[in-house]
Amino acid sequence: MAENAKIDFSALSDSWDREHLWHPYTSATDPLPTYKVESARGCRIKLVDGTELIDGMSSWWCVIHGYNNPVINEAAMRQLQSLSHVMFGGLTHQPAIDLGKRLLAMAPPSMNNIFYADSGSVAVEVAMKMAVQAAVSRSGSHRKTNFATIRSGYHGDTWNAMSVCDPVTGMHGAFGPALPVRFFVPQPRSRFDGEWNPEDIRPLRELFEAKADEIAALILEPIVQGAGGMWFYHPQYLREARELCDEFGVYLIFDEIATGFWRTGRLFAWEHAGVEPDIMCVGKGLTAGYMTMSAVLTTAEVARTISEGEAGVMMHGPTFMANPLACAVAEASLRLLDGQPMAETVAGIESVLKEELAPAAEMTDVVADVRVLGSIGVVETKQPVDVGRFQRECVKRGVWIRPFGKNVYIMPPYVIGEDDLRTLAREMLNIVRSESWK
Ligand SMILES: *Cc1c(COP(=O)(O)O)cnc(C)c1O
Repeated sequence: MAENAKIDFSALSDSWDREHLWHPYTSATDPLPTYKVESARGCRIKLVDGTELIDGMSSWWCVIHGYNNPVINEAAMRQLQSLSHVMFGGLTHQPAIDLGKRLLAMAPPSMNNIFYADSGSVAVEVAMKMAVQAAVSRSGSHRKTNFATIRSGYHGDTWNAMSVCDPVTGMHGAFGPALPVRFFVPQPRSRFDGEWNPEDIRPLRELFEAKADEIAALILEPIVQGAGGMWFYHPQYLREARELCDEFGVYLIFDEIATGFWRTGRLFAWEHAGVEPDIMCVGKGLTAGYMTMSAVLTTAEVARTISEGEAGVMMHGPTFMANPLACAVAEASLRLLDGQPMAETVAGIESVLKEELAPAAEMTDVVADVRVLGSIGVVETKQPVDVGRFQRECVKRGVWIRPFGKNVYIMPPYVIGEDDLRTLAREMLNIVRSESWK
């Protein structure tokens, strides 16, 4: 199955698509190739020319239960027959309540209030607005409205989300002074499974000592930094960051949009450290990739502080807030997680990834680092990868992987079978080894 030997690439680049449709981060005049998908099932994506690809991306972290999942299909179809959408202002509905109950049962114990938003980036916007409203209300000072974050983070593509993305790999270059200026501290370099270096936390303490009266919140991705560099850092950083936030009156926001719903081997990544945030964003896997939806969770204290503030209300309310179809689908996705031994499933994926990716450590000419956590496997190359070339090789070999920069990585749907997982990992290494992506 791995070799699509007779591939004719007729699934490549529909010309109308090339001329009129923008794809993520692409040029309109010289776009990267795109492959046309006919259908997908489980962890296989089928192109229009019949080529089958084993999916290594979960469509950017979200398709956790595989494509065309019968349980989630059924939930969507059932909901479609009664209520696809209704405004959430002044009205409510059972899917929103059912999802909320499940989400709170899974969330850190201190979470109490839920705000449903449209996408991951919007969840980050909402979380930042919550933090500002709460910080101003709590401190009585309009100075306490800025943000601290760690370098190499990624929090989305909207304005404020961009402002807390890594200033080098993110979009500060393109948008420059149009972006609000945030406080950045270095990325913790202590590895997830390595020794904790106490020096890692020092810059954050120094920042807070100097600037805490201007900082509403510290926002970061717990444990795994995703699209900013696929880095796994030491849980002690989160414990110490939590203590510093408490000491200096700064709220702590965990962006669990990528890490949530078992991706790192725990239901949420905060569990690796055992410290809870004041505000938490979830998205991506929330709807199992069926619809765009996210949620921001917070404590009763933050919710109360906002409500006692100047505005007296949380100042956000999107048109598609708590869309019933999305809620029903998300509820089904969480129900599937609840009904399975997910810790074992992800531990199984992790051990196969560790075994299959181990040989990359010997490929010292091309590989800088190899790391695996939960269902995420990363091979960091020494030189940046040419994505177009890499993906052409993927399609030839029957796998779907989309690297960025120097990060070649996979995080497959949890339903992937062991044979497919081994094939996926091996083909990834074969491509890296071939150096055809340079
Ligand atoms: C993907 C991602 C976002 C943005 O989510 P979108 O749904 O793409 O807007 C924010 N934070 C993290 C950590 C992400 O991985």
